[in-house]
Amino acid sequence: MSFFWLFPQIPGLLWAEQHGYARYGKGLFSDSTIAPGQLFRLNRSVARAETKIKDFWGSHEGKGIIIFCQKESEFAGLCGSGKGAGCSIGTPWRSWIVLNADGLNEDVIAHEMCHIELMTRLGWWNVKTDIPTWLDEGLALQVDDRFVSEKDSIQRYIDYKAELEMYSNGNQWEIPLTELETNKQFFGDEYRTRLAYLTAATEVSKILTKTSKKEFLQTLERDRTFVPRGSTFVPEGTKPRKPMP
Ligand SMILES: [Zn+2]
Repeated sequence: MSFFWLFPQIPGLLWAEQHGYARYGKGLFSDSTIAPGQLFRLNRSVARAETKIKDFWGSHEGKGIIIFCQKESEFAGLCGSGKGAGCSIGTPWRSWIVLNADGLNEDVIAHEMCHIELMTRLGWWNVKTDIPTWLDEGLALQVDDRFVSEKDSIQRYIDYKAELEMYSNGNQWEIPLTELETNKQFFGDEYRTRLAYLTAATEVSKILTKTSKKEFLQTLERDRTFVPRGSTFVPEGTKPRKPMP
């Protein structure tokens, strides 16, 4: 999940970081003492997530501050919602990844890191204005192996497609991408949100069967509007359109 726009939590995040929470090394905070075993798992998950980001993007540019909440109420307060195992909050000057106990997991952390990576590379405002939520979430689900775990791009697409078919009861319930452009459209009740995730992941994994990851990501950094907002098709050989003013 990613919330780039919800500013009410920002004072809480800054407070947590500067006064309220215990600090564990550079860029890691917690609302209460972390047991040694848990700290080990957390650090290991972060390291593995960083490797996933480097494998996908080529390097890790977006450094977010990690806040580990052992109390669900703290997690819900900082994320603006108690749903899920992690969230990322990006602002033009700083970003955070907030995790709860379920977030001690390399997939959860890599997912949130991917949101921050996109924002860092394209720019906060540009992501907000030009990147539909389905694309942002679909990219994050390429480093997140909770639904499917195949590394090969074609197999990953086949697996996501199968998951989507199964979850939508043979594609009986479909959400067009044009209805998944904003966070508000994307995140609904549990069923819809999961359907939205699978739709986004299937679409992005499909695009990545047509172009190399590297080429796709480099083109996106150059022209953030080159992926049609509602289309499954990446035009091959067509000139990238100019970004909207
Ligand atoms: Zn997400």
